[in-house]
Amino acid sequence: MLQTWNFSSDYHSHSLAVLETALSQIAAYKPWQAFDPGREYPIDARYAAMPVLTKKDIRQYFPRGFVPVDCDVNRGLANGEISFVETSGTIDRVTNIWNQKWWDASERASWKLNTHASKIATGNHREAILANPLNVGFVSDNLELPMEKRRLSRFLYLNEKTDPLSWSTAHMDRMITELGAFEPVVLEANPSLLAKLCRYITASKKTVFQPGLIVLTYEYPANFHYRQIRQVFNVPIASSYGTTETGYVFMQCEEGKFHQNAEFCRVDFQPLKSEHGGPFLGRILVTTFNNPWYYLVHFNVGDLVRIDERGSCSCGRDSGLILSGIEGRIANVTLTCTGRLVTLCELDDALSVLENIDEYQLEQVAADRYNLHLVSPRLDKHTLSKEASEVLKKLYGKKAQVSVTYEDAISPESSGKYSISKALFPVEIERYLQ
Ligand SMILES: [Zn+2]
Repeated sequence: MLQTWNFSSDYHSHSLAVLETALSQIAAYKPWQAFDPGREYPIDARYAAMPVLTKKDIRQYFPRGFVPVDCDVNRGLANGEISFVETSGTIDRVTNIWNQKWWDASERASWKLNTHASKIATGNHREAILANPLNVGFVSDNLELPMEKRRLSRFLYLNEKTDPLSWSTAHMDRMITELGAFEPVVLEANPSLLAKLCRYITASKKTVFQPGLIVLTYEYPANFHYRQIRQVFNVPIASSYGTTETGYVFMQCEEGKFHQNAEFCRVDFQPLKSEHGGPFLGRILVTTFNNPWYYLVHFNVGDLVRIDERGSCSCGRDSGLILSGIEGRIANVTLTCTGRLVTLCELDDALSVLENIDEYQLEQVAADRYNLHLVSPRLDKHTLSKEASEVLKKLYGKKAQVSVTYEDAISPESSGKYSISKALFPVEIERYLQ
């Protein structure tokens, strides 16, 4: 039996209002009326009966299919209330309606879920962002942009290059200098890129300005990222989970658990079958609140999370779902030789026993074949390969054929984000759900 969660009365009224408006007024959800058991049913049962919204649906109905009939998209675009933004990605690229005011409000609400953030984030605070400019910021691959060209209101974008493999030592020295000059209150970072900068800082024995808080986002932060970042930064680190479509969905509190941003979204949890890690492990479907310009209902964000088994957190926050962890994207799952689902989190925890790994990437090429790419300064590569194979055979099964190869660096995907693990064949997540 899973926990029952505490929610404010607003949560239930928002859930109800969004569903009723979506079914009655919004084109993308009109076909869903047939699934609604009716108003006499509890709201959770009505959501549970609904189909899942996918990126394919967004492409099909965008943009007018996602706003109420009395909302004029052209007027919103003309007066600047909204704009269209495209998410990066090759296969699942999608255009969304962007409402900056709502996004900022969703972010502000998420700060309440972490004591460090709520103390220092005012909404006017200086924030440095270390990300791939394909995800956020200004792209300039051939020409170096001076600092003032990478400023936008309270933000400084530290990197304009889309390929992190092209970073020179001068580029990273510039980041270190700018952090010192700008003195950000918060450093928001893609964990892969911050880890790369930290490896350089450690190797070159440099020092760097310490912000009040580091917020990791855009990607799953792996154990090796944390290790490398911790060697350089001695400040609180929080992981923030959200998407371009849904805004801020979960924020990690100072005790390390993830709390739902329940003022701004509804989250429905669908457990995996017990043989695949359920019932505490499952996928989430997100419904946004308070955004009059973009109704997203039961949206499959494509991530797996672990519900906290105790259902409580020592920080004392008790409104909304509590997760013990985000376990990685569904696109990152691999399978054991006998077909059990393995999340990126499970793989990463297993591989974390290996010492002195800069980066890794695991590709499952067939049911029992796994290619591990390692970046490591270790000289005893033969021993390291043996250790890595043993870890993977223990995880995936004795029959696993493991090949270990060494790289100078791992490249990100064309979206600008790194993929630490993936199966090179389709894994239909619906087959693994209860
Ligand atoms: Zn907490």
